[in-house]
Amino acid sequence: MSKSLLCPCEDVTASEVDHCIDKGYRDIESVKRFTGFGTGMCQGKQCLTAVARHLELRTKNAPEQIVPFTPRPPLFPTELSYWASASFDPAKAPAGGVPLPYPTASPQGALPSMGFTVPALKPKTQVPERAKIVIIGGGIMGLSLAWNLTEQGERDVVVIDKGYLCAGASGRNGGGIRAQWGTPTLISLAQRSIELMKRFARDMGINVWFRQGGYLFLAKSEEVVKRIEKSAALHNKHGVPTQILTPDAAREIVPQLTMKGIKAAAWNPKDAVIFPWPFVWGYAQQVEKRGVKVETFTRVEGFELGGGPGARRVTRVITDRGDIACDTVVLAAGAWSPQIAKLAGVHLPNQPHRHEICSSEPLKPFLGPLVSVLDTGLYFSQSMRGEIVGGMGDHHEPAGMNLGSTERFLTRYAQALTEQIPQLGHLKVLRQWAGPYDVTPDNSPILGRTSELQNLIQMSGFVGHGFMMAPAVAERMAKWMASGESDELFERFTLSRFAEGRMEREDMIIG
Ligand SMILES: Cc1cc2nc3c(=O)[nH]c(=O)nc-3n(C[C@H](O)[C@H](O)[C@H](O)COP(=O)(O)OP(=O)(O)OC[C@H]3O[C@@H](n4cnc5c(N)ncnc54)[C@H](O)[C@@H]3O)c2cc1C
Repeated sequence: MSKSLLCPCEDVTASEVDHCIDKGYRDIESVKRFTGFGTGMCQGKQCLTAVARHLELRTKNAPEQIVPFTPRPPLFPTELSYWASASFDPAKAPAGGVPLPYPTASPQGALPSMGFTVPALKPKTQVPERAKIVIIGGGIMGLSLAWNLTEQGERDVVVIDKGYLCAGASGRNGGGIRAQWGTPTLISLAQRSIELMKRFARDMGINVWFRQGGYLFLAKSEEVVKRIEKSAALHNKHGVPTQILTPDAAREIVPQLTMKGIKAAAWNPKDAVIFPWPFVWGYAQQVEKRGVKVETFTRVEGFELGGGPGARRVTRVITDRGDIACDTVVLAAGAWSPQIAKLAGVHLPNQPHRHEICSSEPLKPFLGPLVSVLDTGLYFSQSMRGEIVGGMGDHHEPAGMNLGSTERFLTRYAQALTEQIPQLGHLKVLRQWAGPYDVTPDNSPILGRTSELQNLIQMSGFVGHGFMMAPAVAERMAKWMASGESDELFERFTLSRFAEGRMEREDMIIG
């Protein structure tokens, strides 16, 4: 039994799936992430049925409770050179992209084309009737806040998520962590996060594949050269050892780079990459041990409000598994936050923007840093499993919650990547997906109290860098919430800044 292989590509045995079930991951998406089944060359085609059948037998769940599974394009492992030579001009392809010939997830994450419905994985028990603090969103923000609240002695906390853990941007990102930012606030938050991330494995007992290989930013235009020079001066002032390099000096760090069109580079050897999923699980497992309830597959559908004029507040959070009376609500639902805030009559200016990304077959380790061409929004790094994981921003991407995948992205990405490392043309793309950037008008987060509803705390708007900010922001937010003392972070980044015309602009954004 224990040695029977369910996924031959990734050597996933039945007992590993059992271990995963015992940990509480009982839906197929979580099992895939926890064991790695289906992430090899067969792309899940050989092993999905075996794992689903095993889950059905072990959990006694009905088949419709085990799915949905979201197959990832491309249909077959496909060389980057194929995508790079695509005949259509990606610059002229329709905005929003050409959908790939593979069923892609709908915004809700379901696969209507395959007839699946979102499963009821939790027994339909009620959520707790009362909690001091309800956190909406079980991504990195919500869970790291829950962890830090327990560090402050707070245990009466419920975290609610409509899907499985890692379903949102926190399970879909590139895992890049850098202190190379354009404002002192983000620089110091990132520095603190890097410190906390370094010791996360030891503190939380889970391997997060932290690798400090540095970040190498490449600049093509004079405007971007000026931007990295200005940022580097600021970094040095704040203890970040960023250096501006010539293209030749940058090639000494990654000899495979052609440096085509590159005028200068910014290099900080202390920046890093991590594997996002165990981070999310690490926080979730530890907070549950301390008595926090993490209610997955539970959707927030509304709020009950109380209090008179000038003292309006949320009294209950309404979910599809019952209502929770509460003292404080934290809205940490990433790019979904505006939809949820609207249910309480609050307008958030954040807009979701699809951001596409992909992963390749593994290669022997050769790439130290995460490399990014700031002008085009290309970035790529090598994971500890050897995959090249990379993405690329798209200024033509319209606002909206769209998690589908496109040929337009693969073509633009392959062309930009092989321009810098032509040898990667032979590399096969195995998986492609997308996640929502949570974009605010000034590229800075929305944090702190809401004027209209004083007990509704905002924690969203982290664009494409929330993962690396979460540990430090959550640490400060938990202290601020528990102590009642003021913290300038939660005065400066409030929602009210937009109405007051105060912008906190950040421009070291990739994509
Ligand atoms: C492709 C991509 C690459 C990125 N790369 C990086 C990177 O390299 N480094 C970095 O630091 N950041 C990166 N980011 C950004 C980072 O992933 C996000 O900023 C961060 O994960 C946001 O975390 P969150 O907890 O705010 O949101 P999310 O992780 O999106 O969590 C929000 C949660 O709210 C839940 N939710 C939504 N609606 C409801 C509802 N009605 N009821 C209950 N729950 C609900 C969702 O299911 C979701 O799990 C990237 C993002 C993307 C998309």
